[in-house]
Amino acid sequence: MKVYKFGGASVRSAEGIRNIFRIVSGLNDNLFIVVSAMGKTTNAMEVVLEHFMKADRAASLHKLAEIEAYHYEIIAQLFADQKLAKAAVEPLFEELKNNLSEGVGDDYDRWYDRLVSYGEVISTRIVSAFLSESAIENVWLDMRQLLVTDSNYREANVRMDESQIRLQQAADFTKNRIYIGQGFIGANIKGDPTTLGREGSDYSAAVVGNLLDAQSVTIWKDVPGILNADPRIFQDTVLIPEMTYLDAVELAYSGAQIIHPKTIKPLENKQIPLYVCPFGSPKEAGSVIKATTEKPIDVPVLILRKNQVLVTIRPRNFSFVLEESLSKAFAVMNKHRLKIAMIQSSAISISVCVDNSRYLTGALDELANEFKVNYNYALELLTIRGINDEIVHKTTLGRTILLTQRTRRSGRYLMKEI
Ligand code: ASP
Ligand code: MG
Repeated sequence: MKVYKFGGASVRSAEGIRNIFRIVSGLNDNLFIVVSAMGKTTNAMEVVLEHFMKADRAASLHKLAEIEAYHYEIIAQLFADQKLAKAAVEPLFEELKNNLSEGVGDDYDRWYDRLVSYGEVISTRIVSAFLSESAIENVWLDMRQLLVTDSNYREANVRMDESQIRLQQAADFTKNRIYIGQGFIGANIKGDPTTLGREGSDYSAAVVGNLLDAQSVTIWKDVPGILNADPRIFQDTVLIPEMTYLDAVELAYSGAQIIHPKTIKPLENKQIPLYVCPFGSPKEAGSVIKATTEKPIDVPVLILRKNQVLVTIRPRNFSFVLEESLSKAFAVMNKHRLKIAMIQSSAISISVCVDNSRYLTGALDELANEFKVNYNYALELLTIRGINDEIVHKTTLGRTILLTQRTRRSGRYLMKEI
């Protein structure tokens, strides 16, 4: 069997969903389809949540009404007879409204997962109904009942053993050829919904691939495949047709937007190839990530990670024992879920480059108990793999650089935003 994952951009319009039909109808294999929320629905649901957490019920319902209208518009464009699709989606919006009426919760992350996860539940209902109507029989599955995760809300990790039993039972290919499930969501063992981290649908697809022993996983994207740089930022980008799992992990952790960092491990563990294919032209080869390749990457790869903060800390009590400070500092940062992109240490200080997230202030406050803390906002981290002087010159010319790290093959430049 194969796994196909369609992201938010692929399902943002009726045309996109018709294209899924075209792609899926060309396949005879058993198939598990993983789908994200439509377009920018996750962002919009985050706004609903913000209002809800501030107890502004009217504003949260207003935003939800916008989301509802957007989905109904797509249904109107897709179905001649909208009855079935609407019947599948209406109760979900009702559940959401009931949730919003319940009064304000206190646990932000938990409410996030409970509410924002509906984006995927709704989108999969619509895609599944459309495929059924187009004579592609399929079975809709609720991943909140199948992917068991820990309770690390908003960044949950899948428990593979428990999930495997449930998923294999539910996706029985001797009974049906095509199943559809949500990316990005699962539930803890008590059944409370969880999400796997923003852009986490790739991870879902990889987990499904692993648990069902897929022969391949394909991520359909609105790009030709994996490029050596983000074409929205850099010019003259080229396609990288093949790379190893190791290359992919390094790229993902440097901040390459192409795949979610957690995606590779479940695939590598079972040596399942991951294809990244162009949604708009499905006949093209795209890129493949696999165990080994005869064609090592021979172009410089550029990754720009935006919205970074440089945090420099020094122990207050003059205990300049680096190891001790390091372990204390990292314990605090880990507790506050800071994503560390770069580390540099000297005899008396530690500098880290971290994503500017909503957890940052809490971490800085706690660090300030033991350390003197300095920081700079509004930075971006450029990673260059396969480095040469010309490319460094071209990409950093005239920029204010706060921190540099260079090895034989790669360079990293923490710069002020322009
Ligand atoms: N819908 C989620 C997000 O926008 C998950 C995903 O698209 O992968 O982050
Ligand atoms: Mg997405």
